[in-house]
Amino acid sequence: MNNRIWLSLAHMGEHEQEFIKEAFDTNWVVPLGPNVNGFEKDLSDYLGDNRHVVALSSGTAAIHLGLVLLGVGVGDEVICQSFTFAASANPIMYLGAKPVFVDSEKDTWNMDPVLLEEAIKDRLRKTGKLPKAIIPVHLYGMPAKMDKIMGVANRYDIPVLEDAAEAIGSELNGKRCGTFGELGVLSFNGNKMITTSGGGALVCRTEEEAGRTMFFATQARDIAPYYQHSHIGYNYRMSNICAGIGRGQMFVLDEHIARRRAIHELYSDLLKDVVGITVMQNPSNEYKSNFWLTCILVDPQLAGQTREDIRLSMEQNNIETRPLWKPMHLQPVFADAPAYVNGTSEHLFDIGLCLPSGPTLTDEDIRRVVEVIKS
Ligand SMILES: *Cc1c(COP(=O)(O)O)cnc(C)c1O
Repeated sequence: MNNRIWLSLAHMGEHEQEFIKEAFDTNWVVPLGPNVNGFEKDLSDYLGDNRHVVALSSGTAAIHLGLVLLGVGVGDEVICQSFTFAASANPIMYLGAKPVFVDSEKDTWNMDPVLLEEAIKDRLRKTGKLPKAIIPVHLYGMPAKMDKIMGVANRYDIPVLEDAAEAIGSELNGKRCGTFGELGVLSFNGNKMITTSGGGALVCRTEEEAGRTMFFATQARDIAPYYQHSHIGYNYRMSNICAGIGRGQMFVLDEHIARRRAIHELYSDLLKDVVGITVMQNPSNEYKSNFWLTCILVDPQLAGQTREDIRLSMEQNNIETRPLWKPMHLQPVFADAPAYVNGTSEHLFDIGLCLPSGPTLTDEDIRRVVEVIKS
């Protein structure tokens, strides 16, 4: 049997252990310390646009605190992209608020700005209130149409919480994902572009927002010599050990992005003449996906096989692939949530497949994957 080819594995560089060792040697093993500050500075330098980054225990925690910061509470509505991972929407429920799902457009597979505006108008008509926040997602690293989405959001004065968990390093018009909205979310889970073993970050536009994020992430302690609380807090700060891994990963971030883009290019090249298979591409020069995962669409009529046929033969060949995200408006747990849909995400879910794309894959591995699709 051939070695297993995984969808997306973590890859460590040379410096992670140095930062961890330093943390041990100086006894900074708590959720604060030089690695946390260093990692946050590295991230804000990397993102640009004077953003203030707060390192947290996960991307999900970052979405949760982002919604807290935006004042989302019981009974509020929050618009969320339907085509995404459940972690984009779950924190809305943690706060007793209600998700309203909006479908995608065909170019980027992300939130459709036209449908977004229709949804806002319809919610206003039906509830008399505007949604409290909007969560677009840059799925598989592809930037959403943020210029248009921000246009709509600004017209109605609704803050945007940008889920860039899969999109560190991706750019739209030279601006990095995570820096478009009032707040942005990054994830450093094991299968993401870089990892801290587990972790995330909230990207804030203002220093004041970053301060409030740290306050809520560390149990919301009032300024007093004893423990006094005027707010409900959370234990969401990143540890100095995890941040040490993150600082090391920043040395290899550019390499990882370059490798994932090269993998996407090789797949595109090897599959370009295969009838019925389309590889997801940047829709135009303004878009620069990090190609966290390379995704294909399988037209069953033309290809003579379905997405599921391909997935199963991959499995037989010891290759891990995965269908595209199942839209949130089709999830049993969100059956009651209002949804504004146009068929795009359902269609993508039916015919789409994520191919192995991790930085440790060799060109030979990619050829092995392509051979299975062709045979
Ligand atoms: C991974 C992911 C998250 C959650 O990040 P965690 O660090 O795993 O909590 C949120 N949104 C999207 C789109 C993701 O892919």
